[in-house]
Amino acid sequence: MSQGFVTGIYIIAGLLFIMALAGLSTQKTARRGNIYGIIGMAIALIATIFGPNEGGLSFILIAMAIGAVIGLVIALKVEITQMPQLIALLHSFVGLSAVLVGFNSYFGYQALAPVEKAAMAQGMVTVHLVEVFIGSFIGAVTLTGSIVAFGKLQGLFSSKPLVLPYKNKLNLLAIIVSSVLLAVFLQQGGVFWPLLLMTIIALLCGWHLVASIGGADMPVVISMLNSYSGWAAAAAGFMLDNDLLIITGALVGSSGAILSYIMCKAMNRSFISVIAGGFGTDGSSASEDAGDMGEHKEISAEDVAEKLKDAESVIITPGYGMAVAQAQYTVAEIVRKLKKNGTKVRFGIHPVAGRLPGHMNVLLAEAKVPYDIVLEMDEINDDFGDTDVVLVIGANDTVNPAALEDPHSPIAGMPVLEVWKARQVIIFKRSMRTGYAGVQNPLFFKDNAWMLFGDAKKSVESIDKAL
Ligand code: NDP
Repeated sequence: MSQGFVTGIYIIAGLLFIMALAGLSTQKTARRGNIYGIIGMAIALIATIFGPNEGGLSFILIAMAIGAVIGLVIALKVEITQMPQLIALLHSFVGLSAVLVGFNSYFGYQALAPVEKAAMAQGMVTVHLVEVFIGSFIGAVTLTGSIVAFGKLQGLFSSKPLVLPYKNKLNLLAIIVSSVLLAVFLQQGGVFWPLLLMTIIALLCGWHLVASIGGADMPVVISMLNSYSGWAAAAAGFMLDNDLLIITGALVGSSGAILSYIMCKAMNRSFISVIAGGFGTDGSSASEDAGDMGEHKEISAEDVAEKLKDAESVIITPGYGMAVAQAQYTVAEIVRKLKKNGTKVRFGIHPVAGRLPGHMNVLLAEAKVPYDIVLEMDEINDDFGDTDVVLVIGANDTVNPAALEDPHSPIAGMPVLEVWKARQVIIFKRSMRTGYAGVQNPLFFKDNAWMLFGDAKKSVESIDKAL
């Protein structure tokens, strides 16, 4: 394949990636968007591997075969509830690649013969060294940041924020020291130690940035790491002189940044404070103490079915527990029965319900719930006051009134589904344990709230039977 042909394919692949992103913006076109992305990636890979600049074809093919087998096994095994940690882990690979490409590119330059080095313009050498340094920095931050995010989501590390003394100053110091190291690196014509020292600092910085972010802000962290991984890929593209990698990296980097911004707005968080590792928050730790909140009441599935039969309007607010229990199919069945009975049934979806953006929408689409009864939080929040029964199925943080009522709560200021305004609220969960943010929920103790304990799937099956 000639270079011109490869460049042509890269342009087509770049366009397909843009069409993929456009397709992913609505549920109806998401499948098409995925197909564009797959075709773009396939032709880009073929052009890169069989292009004029590549050697070691057999090594590439062996590595790809091993990677493909591992990828397939993971894809078949992973539950949708484990998707965010898988994504976080994959981001860490992008970070690692950027660091490896950075170091490889550095040593590649060092290994050049003196005549070859002398033939390069001084400006080009400086540009190359800056690319290596910045690419390795972004890659290292992404690598450890993503590993911590993986650990937090997988429950290996605590989801509470790490609060080191002077934590904001530590981050600032890491950036200042790295900038000084860059200056030394350039001034000394690319000696190795500043690059190595900066990489160690960046690894620690990535770890610290994400460890400092509390559980409730994790959704933003995931999309932010997505953005970082894009910039890391773009930096690798500069080092490898690969235009498509630059374009793809920039698309991922900017779309991740836009998504982070939208999620911050939805959660009423400051974008800067989240990306700067919980900057400005006092890291106030969550209280699991329910001591003075009062008594909760329990209810049976049969009694819930009676309440549903009598209700004229019902809203269902699902959360992470519905995903774990895989209760969506039976929930959809109940919805069909209630609609047949003339009841007005709708879903209220919080932007960060579950463990990844759009998690609940995907589950409900899977269960063939019609899109027109699945409403966003802003569309439905004013309607709870006129609703007879709300079913909170495996949701907790996203329906917590403390977010609005308790300024000291770790989730203070986050908009929530105001389910407690309805006449009756039924909460499906297995215990009185807290949700992801580790905050106790005063909703459970309200006069109009009843707990339906047990696995959400079993509970909805019993209700379905009783209906
Ligand atoms: P939460 O994590 O707050 O609560 C889920 C509840 O489900 C738990 O209280 C748990 O209670 C219950 N549950 C778990 N398993 C079952 C089961 N099998 N049957 C019945 N109940 C079950 O969920 P929300 O969706 O309300 O909130 C999402 C949280 O996750 C937010 O804090 C958000 O910030 C965070 N997050 C969101 C991401 C996103 O992008 N959407 C990404 C990362 C984090 P019990 O154990 O008693 O059963």
